Amino acid sequence: MDIELKGTSIIGFQRGTQTGETFTAFDPTTGDAIEPKFHSASIGGLNRAAELADDARISFGNTSGRERAKFLRKVADNIEALGETLTKRASLETSLPVARFEGERARTCGQMRMFADLLDEGSWVDARIDHAIPDRQPVPKPDVRSMLRPVGPVAVFCASNFPLAYSVAGGDTASAFAAGCPVIVNGHTAHAGTAELVGIAVSNAVKECGMPEGTFSLLFSGGYEIGQALVKHPAIKAVGFTGSRRGGRALMDIAAARSEPIPVFAEMSSVNPTFILPSAISERGDAIVAGLHASVTGGVGQFCTKPGLVFVPGDEAAEKFKSSFRDLISSTQPSPLLTAGISQVFRSSSKQRQTEVSGFAEHQADVLNGFAVNPSVFETSATDFLKTPDLNDEIFGPTTLLIKADKHEELLDIARSLEGQLTASVHGTEDDLIEYADLIRILETKAGRLIFNGFSTGVEVCPSIVHGGPYPATSDGRSTAVGTRAIDRFSRLVCYQNFPEASLPDELKESNPLGITRLVDGSLRLKS
Ligand code: NAP
Repeated sequence: MDIELKGTSIIGFQRGTQTGETFTAFDPTTGDAIEPKFHSASIGGLNRAAELADDARISFGNTSGRERAKFLRKVADNIEALGETLTKRASLETSLPVARFEGERARTCGQMRMFADLLDEGSWVDARIDHAIPDRQPVPKPDVRSMLRPVGPVAVFCASNFPLAYSVAGGDTASAFAAGCPVIVNGHTAHAGTAELVGIAVSNAVKECGMPEGTFSLLFSGGYEIGQALVKHPAIKAVGFTGSRRGGRALMDIAAARSEPIPVFAEMSSVNPTFILPSAISERGDAIVAGLHASVTGGVGQFCTKPGLVFVPGDEAAEKFKSSFRDLISSTQPSPLLTAGISQVFRSSSKQRQTEVSGFAEHQADVLNGFAVNPSVFETSATDFLKTPDLNDEIFGPTTLLIKADKHEELLDIARSLEGQLTASVHGTEDDLIEYADLIRILETKAGRLIFNGFSTGVEVCPSIVHGGPYPATSDGRSTAVGTRAIDRFSRLVCYQNFPEASLPDELKESNPLGITRLVDGSLRLKS
């Protein structure tokens, strides 16, 4: 499908004006600007998008789950209909291969359809009914019913590293739409063309499904002004963000300082500690080296789940393991990072880290074009790691830190010292899990997902997945950004006391017309 990019925001059913500051995306392989120029939205355009979203709050929020399921499926169909126009543009703006975007598109459309299935099934609203007992002594018991309802318009900030799956129609947008919330997206400058294409697909789905105009808008901005004004706007009731700790924290602080503070669900920074126990190295050392290398360098190391801290024993087998890993990293060709900023931070953080560790190896490229960097590995000891808090900082890109940690108690001290993480992995045997049960108990308090004999990259999109964790992995460790539970972030509980049958939402009607599973007088009544 051929679509000419206009470089303007999408504000309800209108396009933004071609005025205001302009910016472009860049080709990371050369650092050259890519056409067309994009025009930052004006504050007037932002206000219009917010007014439309506010208008749509009640009408979209009161569409039935089945109507919204159809809408989500239409969004997925329209994204697929963009064909290779979309995957080629995403590849151009990121320098990642087209095949990567075929996979990411499948994930994006798959998660839209996963939420559609959730809505069709209907029980996600957690409907609870407690019948009245008029003659209860000493006071009558009222009829009390509750369920999850949409929070209202949501601002979604696109992720640099997932132009499809965590951007315009990504997981935050899918879960907000599913909950019944209008969405205003702040497009990422790095892949604005990809954002416009997906924005057109979503906007067309809004029209084709007869959803209210304010259901969706996409704002472009060459700086932070529009994104910050969006978070401050009174119509916005929650924020979804994926990016840096600094960016997420700035938006959390803005949201908390509003006269009506709102929740920000920010996924920010994680180094995904990976504990490799002696038995694992002696039994499967070569396979773990290969798996670790793939996990550290996949997507040019730009996954929030990249293993950034790897704890290895100090015996002879571990020395061989580290040497093989160094060799693999040193022979890995450089690739461009997503943006000039990410590349610059990688280089400056690497330089700083070299002064803080005892070992360093990297690929030695003669020339680094565009935003390319050399893959690298750092090494240190447990004692020095514990003395140097900076070594906990995420370096986004193809690098990791190997830490020699021998003693059981040392591993416990390290685990206790860690910040909140998206994941923590342990490589060992089932007997090790029993011997190191105390380590696992500590890691449970630190991470959202614990992995046994696997690597942290590669997040399965399914109802039971957890992609979250205590701060700074996310701003709210009680939630997940992936999987069907992500819908809870954009829902709030509403209770109806003594309401007549005709005025209750279908989910709470005595007759259960939707046939959903509910908790009735304390007992689970399964879907009929
Ligand atoms: P970022 O700089 O935090 O930007 C993310 C988005 O938020 C961008 O659209 C950016 O605007 C906007 N933004 C950032 N700070 C803002 C502020 N103070 N006010 C308003 N808007 C703001 O992240 P990035 O460029 O995507 O990646 C940079 C770093 O983020 C990486 O080096 C990595 O450490 C981290 N990261 C983490 C994850 C994760 O899942 N944990 C994923 C991606 C990146 P612009 O488009 O104008 O820049």
